[in-house]
Amino acid sequence: MYAPPRFDTSVPVRINLYSDTQTKPSTAMKAAMMEAEVGDEQSGSDPTINALCDRMAAMLGKEAAMFLPTGTMCNEVAIITQCRPGDEILAHHTAHISEAEGGAPWALAGVQVSPLDGPDGMFSKQALVAAIRPVSRYSPTQRMVAVEQTANLGGGAVWSLDALNGIADVARANGMVTHMDGARLMNAVVASGVSAAEMAAGYDTVWLDFTKGLGAPLGAVLAGSAEVIDMAWRWKQRMGGALRQGGMCAAACLYALDHNVARLADDHVNARVLARGLAQVRGLSVAMPETNLVYIDTEAAGMPAQELATRARAEGVLISVMGRFRARACTHLDVNSRDMDDAVAVLRQAAAA
Ligand SMILES: *Cc1c(COP(=O)(O)O)cnc(C)c1O
Repeated sequence: MYAPPRFDTSVPVRINLYSDTQTKPSTAMKAAMMEAEVGDEQSGSDPTINALCDRMAAMLGKEAAMFLPTGTMCNEVAIITQCRPGDEILAHHTAHISEAEGGAPWALAGVQVSPLDGPDGMFSKQALVAAIRPVSRYSPTQRMVAVEQTANLGGGAVWSLDALNGIADVARANGMVTHMDGARLMNAVVASGVSAAEMAAGYDTVWLDFTKGLGAPLGAVLAGSAEVIDMAWRWKQRMGGALRQGGMCAAACLYALDHNVARLADDHVNARVLARGLAQVRGLSVAMPETNLVYIDTEAAGMPAQELATRARAEGVLISVMGRFRARACTHLDVNSRDMDDAVAVLRQAAAA
């Protein structure tokens, strides 16, 4: 129940659309890792991690940044550093922090995440205003507002700069800090043409994952004020996230910044090709994606998403199951435009069966 399932390997996977997390480091990325200059991160002497953090702080428009193994750890370190037990975080009801981190905000930080509604994994300024509680000893202290850029369960939707700034303004006016889960921040940057620093300007903490479409095997970077990142180091240490020669992994992240950002546009084109193809399949309903996540509704086919996924898997196409009638196909640097036509053909067969 807790351990990941072992995937059936009797049929080789030809086209892996399960997640952009399944990308494997390229030969050139591995070469960069092999050549990395390394040191002991815990004592501040890994030059490659330091270089990555400096570059990321500048790119995100923040004073300081910290390297962590995963995006989940970035979320949880940001939460536990800025919130106290009994505090409340406001976030969309589909937020990764509530849906996919094992209850960590409650379990580790002692905070509750209260759900906000809205289409595409986003909530409006009005919805946020409506959720503000009058200050009283009965209520939890509303301490943080968190957004996801892009909104994963919202179909990879991109928050506009106006919407982000509007949310940050309301939060600040009500004494709350702001946090941006930027697991796929660069997908939003490439899709919108708005810089990462502009998007993050209203946010106290922001992070980027290197293991999604950027193709690195490990690593995420959390950025914020020098004061917040300094306090965050205490939690990085406590949680066992302070590293030694992590520069080998940071080198992969630097490589990804140099080579794998602009090409995210290809993933977005491929996702739209896939969505257009799947929208023609009887029984499947597919919204046009802004980025690289294609959500497939199987209800009209009367086929649970798991069955569609199992049938596709037998033909070597891997997709993920996100709900009873909700599947997801995700494009990334290890699939190409030819794979899209092939995947549509396989899924058409699978949906018809
Ligand atoms: C993947 C993801 C995370 C967690 O990142 P990991 O590196 O897998 O821990 C957090 N938020 C969102 C929106 C994600 O998609």
